[in-house]
Amino acid sequence: MGLTPVRLAGVPAAPGVARGPWVHVRRRDLPLGGRVASGAVEDEEARLRDAANAAADDLMALSERVGAEGHEDEAAIFMAHAAMAWDPTLVEVAATRIREQGEDGVAAIQASGASAAAQLAALDDPLLAARSADVLDVADRIARILAGLPTDEVTLADPSVVVAEDLSPSMTATLPREHILGILLEGGSPTAHAAILARAYGIPAVVAAPAALAALAAAGSGADVAIDGGTGEVVVAPDADTVAEFDARAVLHALARSADAAEAGLAAVTTDGVEVTLLANIGTPAEAGPARALGARGVGLFRTEFLFLERSTPPTEDEQAAAYREAVEAFGGDPVTIRLLDIGGDKPIPYLPMPAEENPFLGVRALRLAHDRPEVFVTQLRACYRAAVAGPVKVMAPMVADAGDVMLLLALATRARDELAGEVVAIGPVDLGVMLEIPSAVLSADAWFGNVAFASLGTNDLTQYALAVDRGNPALERYRDAMHPAVLRLIAMAADSAARAGISLSVCGEMGGDPAAALALVGLGVRQLSMGTASLPAVRRAIRGATASTLAETAALALHDRSAAEARARFSALLPA
Ligand code: PEP
Ligand code: MG
Repeated sequence: MGLTPVRLAGVPAAPGVARGPWVHVRRRDLPLGGRVASGAVEDEEARLRDAANAAADDLMALSERVGAEGHEDEAAIFMAHAAMAWDPTLVEVAATRIREQGEDGVAAIQASGASAAAQLAALDDPLLAARSADVLDVADRIARILAGLPTDEVTLADPSVVVAEDLSPSMTATLPREHILGILLEGGSPTAHAAILARAYGIPAVVAAPAALAALAAAGSGADVAIDGGTGEVVVAPDADTVAEFDARAVLHALARSADAAEAGLAAVTTDGVEVTLLANIGTPAEAGPARALGARGVGLFRTEFLFLERSTPPTEDEQAAAYREAVEAFGGDPVTIRLLDIGGDKPIPYLPMPAEENPFLGVRALRLAHDRPEVFVTQLRACYRAAVAGPVKVMAPMVADAGDVMLLLALATRARDELAGEVVAIGPVDLGVMLEIPSAVLSADAWFGNVAFASLGTNDLTQYALAVDRGNPALERYRDAMHPAVLRLIAMAADSAARAGISLSVCGEMGGDPAAALALVGLGVRQLSMGTASLPAVRRAIRGATASTLAETAALALHDRSAAEARARFSALLPA
């Protein structure tokens, strides 16, 4: 008799279906720290610094190798790791421990890494918290070099699903990809770099499946495992029916990918001829190519924070200009909308010290920072003007509150342009616009829309502020729906003000990538939607199946609904089957 299948639920981390034998990849044994011999403190410090330099060199080499394989984002991850190994804080804290506490280099760097990781893990921001694994990885590498242990790589003889408690980014990158069917982790999170790498490599992955290893051990090494990285489902020892089900899903997944690609060239036009421009939200220039391949007609939101995070010095103007230019060139003539830095008390940056705030989302965030640090924004604007030589560029300021903020943006842009003109540097034209994320800004925008070229609704923040729902608090899920009639009314008002002022209005919050909400937005008069690349095919299909006049009638009714659920139900009913 066969084994009974065991179904587990994890968190989806990289789409796709995998089925086959599994192999447990163990976290390598940690090198054992000890005490430094008396009189050897200085030597031990020197050894520590040499090991940190050697780790940084290894990581740069790994970055180059991964980059040469065409994975530029992933190359950037290891470049950031190299920067961590060079970061004086990590090594200096360890050096102090050697001097003051008599620990040897291995113990000291492990303790320093653990404390840096704990600080990151305690942050509210899930992206930064996920970086704690990266710091541990780098400290582990330095410790291994000090202990003379190998720093590499997992070997895998046969195609298998890799199962692990967690995978460090460098283990993930050095896995033999040709033999990996899928990745199943007991820990991890979809925003950790192991998951990002899995998505980049197209390997299906499920993370945060706590009981996976015990269930697999009980089934034995001969049992198969099936995972669905799109749903988070895991089946240990699948029976014939489950195997058939997962194989069918794998076929559907492959078909859907090819259908998405085939439909990428189709316009998002309703049955009665209203065309909606679909744009992409990107966070790095490397995302521009895939977005264009899935039919984005430009970038509606280029979040530029990636350039500023995880480093100890600010990005230079040249670095920024190169990154923006890369995205502009990838879009070959379609506009790229660069969002000025949106950073605040909730995302600490070592070289931009900001006082801790009681309510960072209501604090000195985004454009508000320009009062104290105008040079940060002028440098960024200079880079935007320079990138605009390569193709159409729009720049928008986040968290604009009123006409005073618009004037601030225009003054910063004028300063950047005048400086460049004085230096005889080539620049291109840039449209200046605002993000509408603050309810009071939406309510009063008709008074100052004449001063900007365009506006984009940041519905993530607009919803948070309009509904008093912290966007990062999972306990408030039931309250967090941008289809709340109050948010819909704000959007209707913004669309009306933009039409009167004759400026274009887009939506670049998550709402634009949610098919039912996208239909509501079209019904409210929005004609440009920007979204994560993965959402483009489903939103295009929803719009092509809808009739604009029906959407407008439905939106008028939804404005008077009693809850987000009622409004959502109206538009969900208009989605294609
Ligand atoms: C938004 O607030 O909707 C938005 C697009 O900006 P972010 O999510 O980066 O705050
Ligand atoms: Mg925002």
